[in-house]
Amino acid sequence: MEAVHSYGLNYWLEQRSYRNLGQKEVLEITETLTLPEIMMMGDALASSDVGDLVTYAVSYNINYSNYCAASCPICAFYVPAKAKGKISGGYELSVEDIHREALKAREAGATEVHVVGGFNPYLDIEYYENIFREIKSVNPQATLKALTIPEYDFIARTTGNSLRETVSRFMEAGVDAHTGGGAEIFDPEVRKQITTPEKISGEKWLEDAKVLHSMGLRGNSTITYGHVEETRHIVDHLTKLRENEIEQSGFLSIIPLKFSLNNTPLQKMKKVKMEASAVRDILVISLARIIAGSVIPNISVYWISLGKSIAQMALRAGGSDLVGTAFSEKVFGATDKHYQADVASLSSLVRQIGKIPAQRDTFYNIKSMI
Ligand code: SF4
Repeated sequence: MEAVHSYGLNYWLEQRSYRNLGQKEVLEITETLTLPEIMMMGDALASSDVGDLVTYAVSYNINYSNYCAASCPICAFYVPAKAKGKISGGYELSVEDIHREALKAREAGATEVHVVGGFNPYLDIEYYENIFREIKSVNPQATLKALTIPEYDFIARTTGNSLRETVSRFMEAGVDAHTGGGAEIFDPEVRKQITTPEKISGEKWLEDAKVLHSMGLRGNSTITYGHVEETRHIVDHLTKLRENEIEQSGFLSIIPLKFSLNNTPLQKMKKVKMEASAVRDILVISLARIIAGSVIPNISVYWISLGKSIAQMALRAGGSDLVGTAFSEKVFGATDKHYQADVASLSSLVRQIGKIPAQRDTFYNIKSMI
């Protein structure tokens, strides 16, 4: 009978220290190491990739509209665009509304204004240019981080502009970075269960990211887990992010987003009955570090979806960033998660686990050590 080998933590740590691991190897790690060992591996790699700092930004979120042509089963935020005027709950912020939000961002001391919304087919390209100019004129010092990659693609398609023209006009209007959202899970079989065809394929998301990055518009990358995916899909997704970054650099971080169940069509259809466990939350952070931390060193822990206690564990399992204060966040708010935090509470959350908090800008330049 052939002997079955099982490598230990030290073997995998040594391998990962000088090369990137293949998908089969990472799956072997998930099957043979215990969760505490995987966490130790993630934490050790975080120390060598980025040291003991845990960063965060002071961010303010503006969600310009919740009308959406996509109607993803994973989403509780949208109101179907075709129902505009027929059902309540939908909104589009006017330039005056945006001005008021931009003032609130300034009052909150935001160094970053994060702007996303639904795929709203009623808005023209000038609407976006106007709101970006308005935000930038009120917050000239803040970084304007706007739109998910599928939003750029949707706006380009529906306004008759190429993706490059769209990006170039928005950069001209003040956009400094993209948000990295809408990646979900790249595997087509999983993706079709959680999104609709209006949202671009995983392949197109990766292609579009390369276009944005080649034009100098950098941004985050994301993965949404905890719905119908298996571990192999997570491993595949994170590997594709790493390979994309090697081909054309531009990702600032990886932000694993836990699927938030309440009020979503997936919950209503009873396709998903409960959210991911803390074990899975931690595993995904560790896998992001193990698979991609060598080329995308900032692995973010989105505490808004995890809660602060699990976020602390994730920061000892490979995570090195807390995303931001997220004042006025509405997308997760639609699933009844109404969190925001000030600088002092994020900072003490980091100190409690023996790491060093540091406030950063969108591009991961350290602004202050608090
Ligand atoms: S996830 Fe985005 S694209 Fe999908 S329905 Fe929600 S707002 Fe629309």
